Amino acid sequence: MTDTNRIIVVGAGPVGMIAGLALAGEGVPVTVLDRLADIPTDHRASTLHPSTLAMLAPLGMTDEALERGLHSPHFQFRDRASGEIVAEFDYALLADETPYPLALQLEQHKTIGLAEARARAFDCFDLRREHEVTGMRQTADRVEVDVRTPDGATERLAGRYLIGCDGGRSLVRRAAGIDFPGFTWEERFIIVSTRFDFGAADGFRYRNYIAHPDQWSAIIKVPGDDDRGVWRALFPAFTDQPDEEVLADDWIQARFAECLPYDPPYEIEHRNLYAIHQRVAASFRRGRAMLAGDAAHVNNPVGGMGMNSGIHDGLNLAAKLAAIWRGEGDEDLLDLYDRQRRPMAEKYVQAQSIRNKEMLGERDPEIRRRRFDELRRTADDPDAARAYLRRSSLIAMVEEANAIA
Ligand SMILES: Cc1cc2nc3c(=O)[nH]c(=O)nc-3n(C[C@H](O)[C@H](O)[C@H](O)COP(=O)(O)OP(=O)(O)OC[C@H]3O[C@@H](n4cnc5c(N)ncnc54)[C@H](O)[C@@H]3O)c2cc1C
Repeated sequence: MTDTNRIIVVGAGPVGMIAGLALAGEGVPVTVLDRLADIPTDHRASTLHPSTLAMLAPLGMTDEALERGLHSPHFQFRDRASGEIVAEFDYALLADETPYPLALQLEQHKTIGLAEARARAFDCFDLRREHEVTGMRQTADRVEVDVRTPDGATERLAGRYLIGCDGGRSLVRRAAGIDFPGFTWEERFIIVSTRFDFGAADGFRYRNYIAHPDQWSAIIKVPGDDDRGVWRALFPAFTDQPDEEVLADDWIQARFAECLPYDPPYEIEHRNLYAIHQRVAASFRRGRAMLAGDAAHVNNPVGGMGMNSGIHDGLNLAAKLAAIWRGEGDEDLLDLYDRQRRPMAEKYVQAQSIRNKEMLGERDPEIRRRRFDELRRTADDPDAARAYLRRSSLIAMVEEANAIA
């Protein structure tokens, strides 16, 4: 390949690495740049939905992911005030339309590792770690980036097209002058993990969403570093509570005890605090540069849709770029990418994640009661439950996006 006849992918998170793998698998030369030396193991995405498992299968990732992850065929919503399980959903309802009627609990860094191992088998895949992109510009026939290399030097790289998979604070998005409208939630979210086995207690599933007017939570299980299983909890931390207070043992123990009283104290393995945003880029394309994943849209983690929809972006775009490479399509395909993915990010990911979060924390007792009733009715009616599962696992989003011409 000539130096410029390639796709540059900025960011080797789940979206960039999987897009890189898909491009390399199609024989498209791809250079993936990431500023970090290693895959970060911070606690972020943990759920692969049925739609994503189906898309990762042709890349050879799904079987190993299924071996390594926890199979979660159910998830549930609870009301902490009454202790009631308001609704439980069973992916078996989707068994006739997906080979993967389950959510797979697997940490984000393991998913990236599976993609990287496969991508490295292709000669046309070039991964450069500790390469930070500091600037981007375009000409009529190429896109160029300035890259800070591990020895501190600045290098210029060029490619035919570029995908910005560089996360919520995307430099690519800013360099392309693309707005990122939306809002930031008032409360921050704290993620804590514990070895306490919620599965042995009180009918918890591997994914549980617990409503409460002040201290709602989500409690999920992931395999953990030693595959013995670890439980992660998500709690809201309101702005009048300083970081030190919400990250302190006492505060965290109190939150766990509200979910499930337990003595001795919970064994806390890890804690982290995040500001959470709901934003969608004004465009997913500017000339030869496209955005995918968190660079294009961010949302709260209730429902586990950010990484999944980002992977869908990356694979949608990789297929279009591969078609252009083979001479089977022109750059109109890149506008089609924007038309297919951007409105769907609003309609499904933003709408559903905002609805999920608002339902968990609803303060008005009457609205809360109405929402619980609606959720109960949905779960009890197989057709409605199936439609809900198709929406929340993003099957409906993928179908609707792909139908856009
Ligand atoms: C607490 C929490 C829980 C979550 N749970 C879920 C879940 O269960 N399911 C789900 O689907 N989503 C979940 N998400 C969202 C998910 O983590 C993100 O959507 C996902 O990480 C997006 O992947 P990405 O590849 O687009 O971006 P990132 O994962 O942010 O990766 C971006 C990469 O770009 C690199 N980079 C950035 N800038 C540059 C630069 N200038 N030059 C070179 N490299 C650069 C970074 O080093 C990084 O490796 C969660 C998020 C949080 C915070």
